[in-house]
Amino acid sequence: MDNAEDRRPKSEDQVLMNKTENRKPKTENRVLLSHGAGGKEMATLIERVFLNCYGPPDYAGDDSATLELGAHRLAFTTDSFVVAPLFFPGGDIGRLAVSGTVNDLLTAAARPLVLSASFIIEEGLEIEVLSRIAASMERAAREARVAIVTGDTKVVPKGSADKLFITTAGVGLVLREGVSGGAVRPEDRIILTGSVGDHGAAVMLAREGLLEGAALKSDVAPLTELIIQLLEAGLEVHAMRDPTRGGIAAALNEIARQSGVSMEIREDEVPVNPGVAAVCEALGLDAFMVANEGKMLIFVAPWDADRALALVRQNPYGREARIIGEVRSDPAGRVTVRTVIGTARILDAPSGELLPRIC
Ligand code: MG
Repeated sequence: MDNAEDRRPKSEDQVLMNKTENRKPKTENRVLLSHGAGGKEMATLIERVFLNCYGPPDYAGDDSATLELGAHRLAFTTDSFVVAPLFFPGGDIGRLAVSGTVNDLLTAAARPLVLSASFIIEEGLEIEVLSRIAASMERAAREARVAIVTGDTKVVPKGSADKLFITTAGVGLVLREGVSGGAVRPEDRIILTGSVGDHGAAVMLAREGLLEGAALKSDVAPLTELIIQLLEAGLEVHAMRDPTRGGIAAALNEIARQSGVSMEIREDEVPVNPGVAAVCEALGLDAFMVANEGKMLIFVAPWDADRALALVRQNPYGREARIIGEVRSDPAGRVTVRTVIGTARILDAPSGELLPRIC
């Protein structure tokens, strides 16, 4: 078998034909819910399918691409929103669609400028519902200081989609170059702008109809003012990431890997609201792996950490901000949590289905 002919690279069509002819479809050859959960499986799918086909050679793995345009550097990003239900305590799919894209632009140290909004609507959706969502988007855009300047509307037959999906894309002007998940250095301090898990927990309860009596609200918010203020103060911010799907566990692991550093987080410094803790315990979830939609992880040089924290705390969305830990040099890619009782545990990137359709 081991002859020259067999070692010839096969064309992709041949490979595909062999696969489809010789094998029954297996689960591993199909997209699963876990591929969209923001954890290990999603990273694998992106590498295997998208980066493999059209990944740029300088792909950084950040939440926004940055592009040079004349004398300016622009940040560019896109995000789709499929949350169910469309309305949940603290927000709705429209506020989420604006905030998610704005916050991704901010992670590139960019001032968000314009957004596009694309709607895939299931036949039968009430126009009143769509109008409420559009009004919510307008309010969120005003708060985020962006304009929604272009869009698209598609309607699909009943059953082909679930009520409404929205895709937003955004462009921003990079205020400071080099802010990237790959630019974190040992000794950097890690600021978290507030409590974790609120969005994921609130959407889960809303979906299950269990919200009665629960004082739970999504944190969904555009963080424009908070981040721009920090950048304009000239503080040495090295990286930012909004801990959305997969929570702070996913975000910290991504950045640890990108920068080739380790991190140590102090468990008792990470605020978890009692309602979120209760939901997590009931559902067997780790609040560190539950999505946030109005929080930022900020990696800042040690000499600027206290000033940065004080600034963040002045903003209504950052009042509960804390320095939750710091960056170390090795082992590269490892995130450790120092627990309340003083022991250490490894905080792995999440895997499995987690919570589908929370964003
Ligand atoms: Mg993001």
